[in-house]
Amino acid sequence: MPLKVHPDIASLVPYLPGKPIEELERELGIPRAIKLASNENPLGPSPKALAVLTEVTGTLNRYPDGGAHRLRRALADRYKVTPDQVILGNGSDEIIGLLVRTFLSPGDEAVMADQTFVIYKMEVTAAHGVPVIVPLQAGRHDLPAMAKAVTPKTRLLFVCNPNNPTGTMVAAEDVAALMAQVPDHVVVVFDEAYYEYVVSRDFPDSLGYVKQNRNAIVLRTFSKIYGLAGLRIGYGLTTPEITGYLNRVRPPFNANSLAQRAALAALGDEEHVARSRALNQAEMSRVRTELGSLGFQPLPSEANFLYFDVGRSGREIFEALLREGVIVRHIEGRMLRVTIGLPEENTRFLQALKDVLQRG
Ligand SMILES: *Cc1c(COP(=O)(O)O)cnc(C)c1O
Repeated sequence: MPLKVHPDIASLVPYLPGKPIEELERELGIPRAIKLASNENPLGPSPKALAVLTEVTGTLNRYPDGGAHRLRRALADRYKVTPDQVILGNGSDEIIGLLVRTFLSPGDEAVMADQTFVIYKMEVTAAHGVPVIVPLQAGRHDLPAMAKAVTPKTRLLFVCNPNNPTGTMVAAEDVAALMAQVPDHVVVVFDEAYYEYVVSRDFPDSLGYVKQNRNAIVLRTFSKIYGLAGLRIGYGLTTPEITGYLNRVRPPFNANSLAQRAALAALGDEEHVARSRALNQAEMSRVRTELGSLGFQPLPSEANFLYFDVGRSGREIFEALLREGVIVRHIEGRMLRVTIGLPEENTRFLQALKDVLQRG
C-alpha cells in the first residue's frame, strides 16, 4: 500500500547538520580534521558541569525530574522571574516545536526573516502553517517590514537575535518599535541562542517585555557558550500563561537527568562563560582582520561566527576546505559561515582558505 504523506511534509528537506569530524576523517581519510561548522564552544563545557555528570550515573534507571525543579528555580533566580515562567526543552529547538504546536493551527501564519534559523520554517511547515518570509535588510532582520507582515492570521513572529547565519543583531530601539506595533494575538519569539556572546550595549532587553506581561518568549540554550550541545538542553522565559499552554504539549521527560544536572553546574560557572566570551572576542576580531586582508568583508557579528561572501560558489570553497580537513558551513549562494574556534583552529582555517584560493 502506498504511503500517504501530506504534501507539506513531502515538501520539507531534511535538516543538514554540520558534518561530524569522524565522518570527514572516515570519508576522505583526513586525519586531524577540525569542525568550525556548528557554533559550538571550542573550550568545551565547564569542568564543573563535567564533574557532576558522574554523580547522576547511579540513578540513570530512574526517570528525570519531569518538573526540573532545581534547574528551573536556578534560572528563575538568575533572571528574576518565577519558576512558572521557565520552560525547558531538549535543546531550545524543541521549544520552537512546542510553540508551533501550541499556537499554530493549519493555515495560520508565522513571520520570520528570509535568512534565519532554518528550524522555524521547518516546524511551521510541518504543522501545516504558513511561513511568511521577510527579506533581510543590509543583513539584518527588517523589523518594520516584519511588523507590516502581521495579519489577523499571524500567531508567531520570530526574531533571531543575534541572527543565525548572519551573526547580525537588531538593536533595542528597533525592537521597541516592533513591540509597539505587534498586536497581542501574536507571540513574539526572541531566539537568543548566542545571548552570552553579545557585547553590544544596544542589545534589547527582550526579557523586559516578558516581565511587562507581553506575549513574548525568550529562548536561550546551554548548547552554545555553555558548551553542552551534546546533552540537548535549552530553555524559554515567558509568561506563566504561555508556559501553562506549552506544558500541555511538552513531553514530560524532555529534559534528561544528565542535562539537568550539568546545566545547573554550568550556570554556576560564570568564570567559564567569561573566559569563553573573551576568547571569542579576541579570535573573532583576529579572524575578521585576516579575512579582510584576503579581501573578504564579514557581516558585523555579535555571535561566535562570521558570515561572509566568498565572491564565487560558496559550495566549491566549502568542499575544497573539506579536503583540507576544515569543516565550515555553506548555507546558500556565495556565503560561508565559519565558527570561531581555538586560536590554532582559526589559524588552520585561514591557512586552508589561503591555499584553496591560491589554487584557484
Ligand atoms: C544553535 C541554535 C539554537 C539552539 O539549539 P539547541 O541546541 O536546540 O538549544 C537555537 N536557535 C539558534 C538560532 C541557534 O543557532
